[in-house]
Amino acid sequence: MCGVFGIWGHPEAANLSYLGLHALQHRGQESAGIVTTDGRQLFAHRDMGLVHDVFPQRALDRLPGEAAIGHVRYSTAGGSHIRNAQPFAVDYARGSIAVAHNGNLTNARDLREKLETRGSIFLSNSDTEVIVHLIAGSTQRALDDRIAEVLAQTRGAYSLVFLTEEELIAVRDPWGFRPLCLGEIGVPGRDKPAYVIASEDTSFNLIGARFVREIEPGEMLCIGPKGLRSRKLAKQDCKLCVFEYVYFARPDSVIAGRSVYHVRQAFGRRLAEEHPAECDIVIPVPDSGVPSAMGYAKRAARPFEMGLIRSHYVGRTFIEPQQTIRHFGVKLKFTTVRALIDGKRVVVIDDSIVRGTTMRKIVTMIRDAGAKQVHVRISSPPTAWPCYYGIDTPTRRELIAANQTVEQIRDYVGADSMGYLSHEGLMAAVQDESSHGQVGLCGACFTGNYPVAVDDTVPPRHLRLVRV
Ligand code: AMP
Repeated sequence: MCGVFGIWGHPEAANLSYLGLHALQHRGQESAGIVTTDGRQLFAHRDMGLVHDVFPQRALDRLPGEAAIGHVRYSTAGGSHIRNAQPFAVDYARGSIAVAHNGNLTNARDLREKLETRGSIFLSNSDTEVIVHLIAGSTQRALDDRIAEVLAQTRGAYSLVFLTEEELIAVRDPWGFRPLCLGEIGVPGRDKPAYVIASEDTSFNLIGARFVREIEPGEMLCIGPKGLRSRKLAKQDCKLCVFEYVYFARPDSVIAGRSVYHVRQAFGRRLAEEHPAECDIVIPVPDSGVPSAMGYAKRAARPFEMGLIRSHYVGRTFIEPQQTIRHFGVKLKFTTVRALIDGKRVVVIDDSIVRGTTMRKIVTMIRDAGAKQVHVRISSPPTAWPCYYGIDTPTRRELIAANQTVEQIRDYVGADSMGYLSHEGLMAAVQDESSHGQVGLCGACFTGNYPVAVDDTVPPRHLRLVRV
């Protein structure tokens, strides 16, 4: 998964992009990048790592100008490699262009093969580079026409921001799989505010921008010296990713008029109704299970307790002592509060189970802390299908729910009982949390009903690249 950010018309474009990306860090921790323009050329900096490691102040100081786009990446299509780090920035016959992408094209390989047959050379194996090549080859004159022509050929999920010396363009795919919103931020000493674009409005909260509205599915926003212009491209039935509410988005974000926090609490309330348990305490797997556990506890009229404590200091590498420690990896991330758990019947709530390894270890840890019973509740349906629209999920072979029944999963994780939120309950909870009317949702990871055809042309996740 990825996060994108854009800003136009602010003298501190690079610094604000850095902060905007910091607020989107949960959407991708593998690489980060910012491209700015001073109106004459583009300036780029990107690297592997977290936003604050990639951008020391001296790197930001080398990104001049009043417009920028940024990206945080978690590899989906394409592997974990610096060459796949975004934004991509290239020079072509009509100038320079940079692009940052959240989502996944489902016909990228097909398009790439056609381009390669015609002699195109690719530097990365990311689906986003295909878009850049197609733009460079377009016969249209204006950039928005070039982009529109290209996006008529692409399928799948894309929330995109483009930057040239002259304009910033933001586009959301016709189904609106991934969120994308528009905001405004005041500029000291100027009447006109600057425009900001972000995957989630939590970015706006951090930099003091005002949320204006969401970019519609199939809408293109062109922002330049003359201001902002909206252009409608093809539109389909909305298919916003429901997993954004389940796990991905930050709880302080609002998507499609619904507070992610409130939606997660609603998931928990429904889960309590669908799968009650005789218990003494309800504990979340922090952080993702917290709001739904609160909802569950409230509906079940049982105490909500932080029986698992999450360490916020887990780095990528750690020294494992020679003496074997049981469940070492998961203990680095979570520890149990014995004083709360000992002798209790515990309901433990997480948002989802992917391979089942985390929950299996957590259940053992809770038992080791003295729990009399452990009841696992999951605030979404069984994740049984891979996502082809931007979320990093393993193949069906590795997804435990694709291969085992709920009873088998209960047995595998070692719980006394197990309950997943139903698909109907999940969808209804999202709809109920807004007075803004219904929103079309994609739940393909739970049902296997893929709204946009997924063919064999999805790029494999680890195409080999030349070593540099
Ligand atoms: P697993 O141990 O493979 O079952 O992973 C389950 C954990 O991964 C849960 O705590 C989820 O919150 C979390 N999770 C679910 N989806 C994703 C994802 N796409 N990327 C990273 N973590 C995820």
